[in-house]
Amino acid sequence: MNMSSYESLTTGSAVSLVKKLGLFAESETLSSREIGDGNLNYVFHIKGKEKSVIVKQALPYAKVVGESWPLTLERADIENRALRLQGKFAPDYTPKVYYSDKDLAITIMEDLSHLEIARTGFINGEDYPLIAQHTGEFIARTLYSTSDFAMGPQEKKKLQNTFCNPELCDITEGLVFTDPFFDAETNDFEEGLRPDAEKLWQDSNLKLHTAQLKRLFLTSGDALLHGDLHTGSIFASETETKIIDPEFAFYGPFGFDIAHFTANLFMNALSREDSRREPLYAHIVTVWDVFNREFTRLWKENNTEAFAKTEGYLEWLLADIFEQAAGFMGLEMIRRTIGLAHVKDLDGIEDEAARLQAKQRSLAIGARFVKERHQFTSADQLVSAFQEGL
Ligand code: ADP
Ligand code: MG
Ligand code: MG
Ligand code: MG
Repeated sequence: MNMSSYESLTTGSAVSLVKKLGLFAESETLSSREIGDGNLNYVFHIKGKEKSVIVKQALPYAKVVGESWPLTLERADIENRALRLQGKFAPDYTPKVYYSDKDLAITIMEDLSHLEIARTGFINGEDYPLIAQHTGEFIARTLYSTSDFAMGPQEKKKLQNTFCNPELCDITEGLVFTDPFFDAETNDFEEGLRPDAEKLWQDSNLKLHTAQLKRLFLTSGDALLHGDLHTGSIFASETETKIIDPEFAFYGPFGFDIAHFTANLFMNALSREDSRREPLYAHIVTVWDVFNREFTRLWKENNTEAFAKTEGYLEWLLADIFEQAAGFMGLEMIRRTIGLAHVKDLDGIEDEAARLQAKQRSLAIGARFVKERHQFTSADQLVSAFQEGL
């Protein structure tokens, strides 16, 4: 990467750039605002009379634990290439990319401001009737289409080599799969949760299962994952769903993305009154139904694998993906509760006792998903186990 041509944009220079690129007329008056959350990336919203665009730029550092650490700009290129591939395989659910520049670490894309970030909507009590259907299709299509089954092993390996993403994987390996299971500096939780955290750190069986799941993450190259598919990466409305922010994209295990989506639904459910949890349970069942159905449809339509028609293979694979995912789900619930990056669904519970209780449940249910993942064979069973933990 040619670092010399990188400079961080301002609201003003972002406007000059989109005009220079011909996305707007030189003479047009544009408004420009930075709307990102500012930890890793800038997000500029640039609006003219008739249209608007988003300019996302990676910053060369991340603000983590009050400090700044250098973080590769390469991730902007990963994000841009992942968005284009996801746009090819799941066009309805991916923002359109208008332009990208590797040296500037930018992607210019469709403005989705007419939609709402699903996490925010869920916290405010929205239900988004189609989100699970759409997200299940997105995951099945993007994963299946980038796997050995669809691409054949040679093409797949070539693509896999272009999505190595070691630095962002390292963040996940640390913050999701390691630190929450030790008394690590990066962990962050209120004193009231200390006994629960210490219980996890002393649970050698949980640690063994976590080590097994971490190894899967480190070594499986099933498909090009989104890599950060929580409800904050989904824009939604009653009718539309768009998945953004794939800067963590890399070749990993099939079960990872669906696990993160599902875990974030469970954590939102923890923040709701019991009478309002049902729509989330329905989403959890639906996303799995749709994923299985769509994966199966694609498998039958196009499969380069000689064993594709071998009896029991597809059924075994789907069961294996489910089992992995149950484990990844549990890890996501644990790390979002005591690790570095929390979710607003839980942190935003105003009543202190209720918040502590929800977080204790998140830890206990998460640990059960991890340790008992071999015993779960359907999303209904996960929902039942979750309800038993309430
Ligand atoms: P980060 O990688 O820093 O988390 P995101 O891609 O998630 O960045 O974007 C951060 C925020 O910027 C989003 O939560 C959303 O509010 C806004 N944003 C990002 N992409 C778009 C878009 N295409 N349209 C409208 N707003 C967007
Ligand atoms: Mg962010
Ligand atoms: Mg991101
Ligand atoms: Mg994001």
